[in-house]
Amino acid sequence: MIKLLHKQHTPLLIAGPCSAETFEQLHAVTAALTESGRVDLIRLGVWKPRTHPGGFEGMGEEALRWVAQLRREYPAARFCCEVACPAHVEMAQRYGIDAFWIGSRTAGNPFSMSELCAALQGSEYPVLIKNPMTPDVQLWMGALERVSSAGVKHIAAVHRGFSLFNNGNYRNNPLWEIPMELKRLMPNIPLICDPSHIGGNRHKVLPLMQTAMDLHFDGLMVEVHPCPSKALTDSCQQLTPQDFLHYIDRLTLHYDNNATPAELTLLRKQLDNLDEQLLATLSQRMEVSRQIAHIKQNNNLAIYQPQRWKQVLSSRLIIARKLGLDEVFVKRLYEKIHAESVRIQEAQMNAPQEAQHGDSNTDDTPQHKA
Ligand code: PEP
Ligand code: MN
Repeated sequence: MIKLLHKQHTPLLIAGPCSAETFEQLHAVTAALTESGRVDLIRLGVWKPRTHPGGFEGMGEEALRWVAQLRREYPAARFCCEVACPAHVEMAQRYGIDAFWIGSRTAGNPFSMSELCAALQGSEYPVLIKNPMTPDVQLWMGALERVSSAGVKHIAAVHRGFSLFNNGNYRNNPLWEIPMELKRLMPNIPLICDPSHIGGNRHKVLPLMQTAMDLHFDGLMVEVHPCPSKALTDSCQQLTPQDFLHYIDRLTLHYDNNATPAELTLLRKQLDNLDEQLLATLSQRMEVSRQIAHIKQNNNLAIYQPQRWKQVLSSRLIIARKLGLDEVFVKRLYEKIHAESVRIQEAQMNAPQEAQHGDSNTDDTPQHKA
């Protein structure tokens, strides 16, 4: 029986392909991970939840037959797969799967969770529950509570990021404050990070693994494939087993008292995220300025319009006051933003059609001073 928090001073490691595709693929991953002696559970997708119809939906029962065969060759290997309905639980148990995980789409659906819990009633199998797609810690907790109420004793939470309208640099926005809030509310539930589905790209996996360690997560679930670029699902984010094992060696683990407090790491992560949003907003604002320059040009309007600038500044200062921001600071900030906006508009107007316009914009002086 796998215990989800059995190791001191080392994270629980779960790795394996997004989807089991062929016996050879699963065999290669199982051999590499088992022989390394580092991995606690091999993950494999048997039934794949796809966004659009018509894609590869997993090998189903055939993949479970491969697992049964591999268990004979690698008696030390332990396997886990995603289950989304009672029929999956029944079939996976029949083929000797050692643990289950409940996917993000299922975890956010209380009806599906109730059905699954009926099938898992009193189960000795460990169950890992991914966060629902929406950033709602209560919904995640509800899924964990349902599984716990069904008498399942070995439970862990898996953070795989959230699907937002704007995920910035990530496939799924990590919003680290949500798993950390879950940890505060349910301190006895081990917390595992899935950097593969957060990053969506193999180059982002190592830094995300390290962030999870810096935030004192209890384990990692990472997608590993013998030939990632040929994977039938999630090919951009999977690692080779060799890269995965190498990354594990490169992690800095924090199990001593001198480690940076997780709270500080979390706040720094929040700052990183907010700065990214701030810069994205500034970039969008400058783009809108360029579009405005185009309209001004077509309508022979001046770039700098003192009345408009006065209105902009005073309305922003009202908002700043309401938000508790220092007015002198916000005034200086807006003067800089406005000056940059004017500079961009001038550059745009002067660029290709310079000759056409000459000095037609003469209703304001000065033309470019914020
Ligand atoms: C997966 O782990 O391959 C998967 C489909 O995960 P999620 O439910 O997090 O999207
Ligand atoms: Mn996947």
